[in-house]
Amino acid sequence: MKTIPRFMGKSIFLSLSLLLLLTACQGVDVPLAPESAIASENISAETSYEITPGNVFSDSPSETPAGNPSSGTSSGTTPGIDFPLSPSEIPAGSASSGMSSGTTPGIDFPLSPSEIPAGNPSSGTSSGTASGIAPEGNGPDAPFSELQVHFIDVGQGDSTLVTCGGDTLLIDAGDNNKGTTVQLYLQKQGVESLTYVIGTHPDSDHIGGLDVIMTKFDCGTVIMPDVTADTATYRDVIDAMAYKNYQNTLPRVGDIYPLGDAEFTVIAPNRAYDDDNNSSVGIRLVHGDNVFLFTGDAEKEAEADILQNGIDLRADVLHAGHHGSSSSCSEDFISQVSPMYVVVSCGTDNPYDHPHQETLDALQEQDAQIFRTDRQGSIVAVSDGVSIAWNTEPEPPEAGIGNIPADTVTYVLNTNTNRFHEPNCSSVTTIKDSNRKDTYMTREEVLEAGFVPCKKCNP
Ligand SMILES: [Zn+2]
Ligand SMILES: [Zn+2]
Repeated sequence: MKTIPRFMGKSIFLSLSLLLLLTACQGVDVPLAPESAIASENISAETSYEITPGNVFSDSPSETPAGNPSSGTSSGTTPGIDFPLSPSEIPAGSASSGMSSGTTPGIDFPLSPSEIPAGNPSSGTSSGTASGIAPEGNGPDAPFSELQVHFIDVGQGDSTLVTCGGDTLLIDAGDNNKGTTVQLYLQKQGVESLTYVIGTHPDSDHIGGLDVIMTKFDCGTVIMPDVTADTATYRDVIDAMAYKNYQNTLPRVGDIYPLGDAEFTVIAPNRAYDDDNNSSVGIRLVHGDNVFLFTGDAEKEAEADILQNGIDLRADVLHAGHHGSSSSCSEDFISQVSPMYVVVSCGTDNPYDHPHQETLDALQEQDAQIFRTDRQGSIVAVSDGVSIAWNTEPEPPEAGIGNIPADTVTYVLNTNTNRFHEPNCSSVTTIKDSNRKDTYMTREEVLEAGFVPCKKCNP
């Protein structure tokens, strides 16, 4: 599936050697400048240097001022390395070797491979540290190379793959039993290595599968917050990092990392928190006119700090914080982000009732269209820098698309039969998802809305 012609292989080898040399130089440890307030807060001695004898954590890679694109730049995008071949010299076959669309199993992809602009080698690059296989561009009016965001269905948990111009970013890898699922998904996309890996926070539904991923794929820059956990899951990740000799890069708010034609800015965590969820690494990913926002499991407390940090939060696509829990997505936060689309990563019938109806209602009030991995499986957004295409339809608006924790529901409505039920009525389980709406309304309000009481439960 991946054949590199000999002449191309040679060029890759040359740029690889150059790259190794450059990254070796970049790898020199630079002591952190004392004036870097955020960073010095993040590396408080009691947490970051006692994790493991191998001490896989390190300071931020450089003391370049925040916002400088070179701070934290990983290999593969090193400036000054020119692509050895002009786009026209790239064999047609290479375009199919990688993450071109149409290869996702079971996903009806919006673009067929033939629709991908000819001569755009970035769509065919398979490796995140592809050593400059992606060209600088296709000319002055060249469109952006395609950016894909895969919200991988890992049940209850998060795992998101972003690919652009030969660079790759993986945010989380699902729970402990999902490492292989994510590995296979990445391989189906032609991913051979990862430019960036972000472990948002140590909870097992986020970093559980990372030990597998870190072992199976060579990873460039690994970004995890300055938080440890006394769990086997966390130790497995740290062991995998030590085994592969990866260093951790602490997330510093304002740091910008290039990703093909896109770039992402670290927006969280803004300080230390008691709660691991709030310590989640958050990023804002920009590709042309399109913006994607990821906040891990950050809850309202952390969202309030993100709102204070001065970074523009407006985004087209929001990955709902904490699986759509009502502990996240504060009114202020949602109205600042003002998303057109929201993706919720959650598992079918998960024990937390994620996503919460309250959150979905608030999002719909913003006219956001909602996708859910528990209903739609893996969800793929494709950006050309101007518009965003999806591999699936969003949830129909106003259908009963959310779950409310059972103790807070007053009634369950069947919008098809216009009956209403007690939440524990046996008929409730037979209502089709698309006809079901959980509600907080009083009996009078429900009657006023035109619903009639079920004859079985007599609500
Ligand atoms: Zn979570
Ligand atoms: Zn969590």
